[in-house]
Amino acid sequence: MNAIINDIEIIKAKTTKINEVDFDNLKFGQVFSDHMLECNYKNGAWEVPKVVPYHAITLDPSAKIFHYGQSVFEGMKAYKDANNEVWLFRPLENFKRLNISSKRLAIPELPEAYFMDGLKALLEVDKDWIPNKEGSSLYIRPFVFATGKGFHASPADEYKFIISTAPSGAYFAGKVKVLIEQTYSRSANGGVGYAKAGGNYAGQFYPTQLAVEKGYQQVIWTDDTNHEYIEEAGAMNIFIRINDTLITGPTSDRILDGITRKSIIDLAKSENIPVEVRKISVKEVVEAAKNGSLKEMFGAGTAAVISPIDGFGYQGTDYDLPKLDKTYAEYLKKRITDIQTNKSEDPFGWRY
Ligand code: PMP
Repeated sequence: MNAIINDIEIIKAKTTKINEVDFDNLKFGQVFSDHMLECNYKNGAWEVPKVVPYHAITLDPSAKIFHYGQSVFEGMKAYKDANNEVWLFRPLENFKRLNISSKRLAIPELPEAYFMDGLKALLEVDKDWIPNKEGSSLYIRPFVFATGKGFHASPADEYKFIISTAPSGAYFAGKVKVLIEQTYSRSANGGVGYAKAGGNYAGQFYPTQLAVEKGYQQVIWTDDTNHEYIEEAGAMNIFIRINDTLITGPTSDRILDGITRKSIIDLAKSENIPVEVRKISVKEVVEAAKNGSLKEMFGAGTAAVISPIDGFGYQGTDYDLPKLDKTYAEYLKKRITDIQTNKSEDPFGWRY
C-alpha cells in the first residue's frame, strides 16, 4: 500500500526480491534493496523526493554527467541492533559533506529535510533489508548527478538525487600491501580532492591497476607537489602509529574529511591514546620502519571502518609491518562498531 511519510510519497514495489538474497553470504554492494529515493532538480528548485521501486534510469546521451562528470556521492551505513532497532552513524555529517561536494562541482545543494526525511522514509520501507548479522549492514549510497542536456561545458540545469541501498557483509580486505605513490596524484591544491566527486575515483583506477600489477593491493597517495607527504590510502584516510602515537595528516583541499577519521581522532583522544594531526612524511615512515618504531598503518573509512595494512613498498623496497598482539586498529574498530551497532554507550552522541 502506498503511503506518505514526512510529506514524502512512497510508491511501493509490486514484488520483493528479498527472498532471492542469501543474507548469510552477502558481498559488499552487489545486491540492491527493493526501493530507492528519487528527487529531481528542475526549474531552479529541488522537487519533493519520492520513495519508488528500484529501477533503471533513462538519460539523454547529451546529459552533462556523461561529458563533464558533474556527479558527487556519499557512503554511509544503517545497522540493526539485537532488538531490531535501526541506527545510523553521524548521518548529518554525510548530508553536510554531500553539499560541500556539490558546491565544488557547481551542483545545487540539497535541503537537509529532503536528505534526512527521504533517507528515513526509504529505510522505513526497506527495513527488512537491513541485516542484523555481526559485521553486516545496509550500505547506503546517496548521489547527485547532472541530467540536464547539452554539449556545452557548463553546469547543467537539471539534476537527480538518488539514495539506493545495498545489504552488505563485512568488508574483508585480506592481506593488504600498499605502494607509496611517487608518480600519480589523487588530488591537487585548489582541486576537488576534498569532494566526493565521481571523477576523483576514476582518476585513481589506473595508478591502482599499475600498483596491482606490481603485486600491491592499494596505493598510498602522497602530496602532488613532491610526493613527500602521506595523504590517503586508496579511498580511505590513513593512520600511522609510530611507537604509541597515532598520526594522521590534516584535512586540506586534497584530503577527504572522513567521518571515520574524525571519529577515530575523538575516540583515541578520549581513551588517552596519543594522537597527532600533522603532516607525516614518507621519509619519517620509512625511517620508522627501518628502526622498528613503526608499529601500525591502517586505512579508515565507512566501508571497512578500519583496514590494517600489512606492509608497504617504496622505491623498490618492501617493508613489513610488525605483527602485534594488541593493535590500535583492532581496538578502535571494536569501539566504533560497538557504538554504531548499539552494543555500547555512545558518549559522543554519534548514534542516530
Ligand atoms: N577518503 C576518501 C577519498 C574516501 O572516498 C573516503 C570514503 N568516503 C574516505 C576517505 C573515508 O571517509 P568516511 O570515513 O567518511 O567514509
